[in-house]
Amino acid sequence: MKLFDVAILGASISGASLGACLGMEAVEVVMIDKNSFPRRKACGEGLSNIGIDALERMGLQAKKTLSGSLKETEDATAEITALRSTIKAERELLERERKANSNQLTLIASERAKLAVALKEYDGRSKGRK
Ligand SMILES: Cc1cc2nc3c(=O)[nH]c(=O)nc-3n(C[C@H](O)[C@H](O)[C@H](O)COP(=O)(O)OP(=O)(O)OC[C@H]3O[C@@H](n4cnc5c(N)ncnc54)[C@H](O)[C@@H]3O)c2cc1C
Repeated sequence: MKLFDVAILGASISGASLGACLGMEAVEVVMIDKNSFPRRKACGEGLSNIGIDALERMGLQAKKTLSGSLKETEDATAEITALRSTIKAERELLERERKANSNQLTLIASERAKLAVALKEYDGRSKGRK
């Protein structure tokens, strides 16, 4: 009977990755799975950046160029980031304008008050002349 150093139960992504890594270290591995491979498995076919890095560490060539839904997700993320910074810049501009308008209104109110005083004085003087 052949003996192995390690027996891995489940030979899907985790099991197969562990098996491959141990195999690269010359550890003798047996993988046991209740299914036969390739098997049918629902999958979104997405490969994250962490997954790509892990594949590369295992010596497997991962596609550097993004395609399909992952590329669209990255594009959408970049678009959202750009939109967020535009919104932030617009908010800052609006806030500056609001402050400038508020200063302008204060100035107008103070000018009005001065005008009202001057008008009162003028009325008083013209009444005195009559
Ligand atoms: C619908 C769907 C879509 C997904 N899409 C994505 C995607 O796009 N990208 C992505 O990165 N991930 C995706 N995932 C997640 C991904 O499938 C899991 O993270 C991954 O399969 C987990 O791997 P695993 O090896 O830990 O477990 P599993 O893949 O579940 O493997 C467990 C293995 O153990 C075996 N086993 C179980 N019990 C026993 C037993 N008693 N004896 C022997 N063997 C046994 C099973 O047959 C199986 O082969 C998706 C998951 C689902 C459900």
